[in-house]
Amino acid sequence: MSTRVAIVEDEPELAALVADYARAAGYEPALFDDGAQALAAFQDAQPDLVVLDLMLPGLDGLSVCRALRAFSQVPVIMVTARVEEIDRLLGLEAGADDYLCKPFSPRELMARIKAILRRSGHAAAVLAVDSAAHRITVHGKPLDLTPSEYGILAALARRPGQVFSRAQLLDLAREGNASLDVTDRAIDSHIKNVRRKLEAVLPGVEAIHSIYGLGYRFDL
Ligand code: CA
Repeated sequence: MSTRVAIVEDEPELAALVADYARAAGYEPALFDDGAQALAAFQDAQPDLVVLDLMLPGLDGLSVCRALRAFSQVPVIMVTARVEEIDRLLGLEAGADDYLCKPFSPRELMARIKAILRRSGHAAAVLAVDSAAHRITVHGKPLDLTPSEYGILAALARRPGQVFSRAQLLDLAREGNASLDVTDRAIDSHIKNVRRKLEAVLPGVEAIHSIYGLGYRFDL
């Protein structure tokens, strides 16, 4: 089965160039020049990865990414000419997995696509987040998690390789449970419990990595 890469880009020449490179790299490109149209298409059939331009007519890339995250964890590479936007793009608010600044080399974009697909494909084959059921399965078997533990692990697992600060994880643990009394120290104890539960089903595998001075990162 071929890997479908959606390219959401309103500059036809750039879109065609990226599509050519994607095809040459063995992917099946799908072109969209409109954010709303792309989003509607993704609801019917999800691509394996999305290359998303930030500046689009109508619905911009940031809005597309946010709306997409409501129903999909498909990897997104954001393309932007606005360097000052990068923090927001990669932040929890928008939920992009990576970014490239315009003008970019299509070769570099293909390398990023390959790296992200490898990372997310491997992780997804082992651990799956079911947002609708608030459930996480490892090799198809559900983990027994508290709501805070679910919130933390789901956030980490949706963005393999991305470092989350304790403050970010706190916000996520509180989501949907505002009365929850979570402190910085409680995050560490939640992480400890999640690690123990993961270790029970994935012995010898370190899935949640501590990044000194920064926080935590998920990688399988
Ligand atoms: Ca554009």
